[in-house]
Amino acid sequence: MQYKSFFQYSWMPDEEADSCLNCGMKFSQFRRKHHCRNCGKIFCSKCCLEKISLPHFGINEPEKVCNNCKLTVELMNKAKSSDIEVRYEAVIGLSSMLKNTAGLSKVVECGGINTMLSIALNGNDKIKIAVASALHCLAQSMMFNSFLVEVGCLKVLKNFLSSNLDCTELISDSLSTLNLLCMDANIRIEVLKEGMIEALLAVVVSSSGVISVFASRVLQLLMCNFEYHEFILKNHRGIISELFDALENEDLQMQACVTKILMYFSAGSLPFREMIIKEDVSRDFPLLFLLKGSSQGVLVHVACIVANLAISVNENYMNHYITGMCGLLACVKQENEELLSQIGRGLANFAESSSSALHMIHHLPVIVSNLLKSSFEAPRVHACRLIVLLFQSELPVALDVLSQSGLDEFIATIFDLPGITDTINNLFLRKVSRLSVCKK
Ligand SMILES: [Zn+2]
Ligand SMILES: [Zn+2]
Repeated sequence: MQYKSFFQYSWMPDEEADSCLNCGMKFSQFRRKHHCRNCGKIFCSKCCLEKISLPHFGINEPEKVCNNCKLTVELMNKAKSSDIEVRYEAVIGLSSMLKNTAGLSKVVECGGINTMLSIALNGNDKIKIAVASALHCLAQSMMFNSFLVEVGCLKVLKNFLSSNLDCTELISDSLSTLNLLCMDANIRIEVLKEGMIEALLAVVVSSSGVISVFASRVLQLLMCNFEYHEFILKNHRGIISELFDALENEDLQMQACVTKILMYFSAGSLPFREMIIKEDVSRDFPLLFLLKGSSQGVLVHVACIVANLAISVNENYMNHYITGMCGLLACVKQENEELLSQIGRGLANFAESSSSALHMIHHLPVIVSNLLKSSFEAPRVHACRLIVLLFQSELPVALDVLSQSGLDEFIATIFDLPGITDTINNLFLRKVSRLSVCKK
């Protein structure tokens, strides 16, 4: 009777079974009903033969267990062993059961996932590798992801990522699992709360190639939700400085990853933009250094970062960034739409500050030839934004440059704006009116 408490949901009432749930033989006076103490279902004596203890239920005396539960219960016993090799066997056995639905539900029912996780926390590399691979396999179906987080999988993944970075298999399985878990926005905040950022950053900085790219992908997933930035700001103030440390690595893939993460921060809240500017200035402008020559991927990210910083950068450093962006503009290929658009956006953002005009006007010829005359719309529109802003304080010089080249494109782009004629007409009508009478 004492077992019923463990099976308040699954202890099968006697009257519900008239035949064995395993072999199907009818129960009679001679073929009695036997409850499996593990699953609570009813079997004949042949199908519920073995007596094994149930450590997962705190029962250390041998009890009747059905043939379906036997293997799982045996593995749960092995999992309690003081011998690490036996615990390893348990992990391997339980992992292999996860590959089919029946095995999976048995393992979950017995708390096998929780057991694997706790074995892993104190396990050796071999055990960790096996558990990481099992978690990856489970996470792929996406169905168990919330469950995995509930039973403490994030703590274990963090432990894996911080344990032995030389073990590629362990790290890549952990990252793949984390990547799958992070597809769910609700899990991302749990990942952040677990303090995974430090562990991931450590992998990005100390690994190379595929592993560091993978770790940075997971970081990107965490950073792309701007609503988490406040949490990150509160709990990981050093993150921008650490990312700049990582930028010193000359590996191009790594630079592409790190600049992509910085890009998300630059598009977020003001404190992050200020932190990025502070780091860049105090380290003698590594971002501008990257603009002078890097892979296409890095260039686009950095141009995007600088364009975002433009709305927050202080006048003292503005000219450095404008020079850097114009230097890049002078040598960018005309077919590179994304890069041209980012440069155009940045320069137009800088032009919103009147103190940039005097500096910007020197670069107007290259802005005209490479942005205003671009075959793509976005660079052209940004160039027009910039020129209109320049007119405020540098009208004669700007007109002079445009009259030599670019005036056609400027006017055509402006009059391509929907509603522009009405808007301008209405503005004129603020100065003059349609109806009037002579004063005399
Ligand atoms: Zn049977
Ligand atoms: Zn059973």
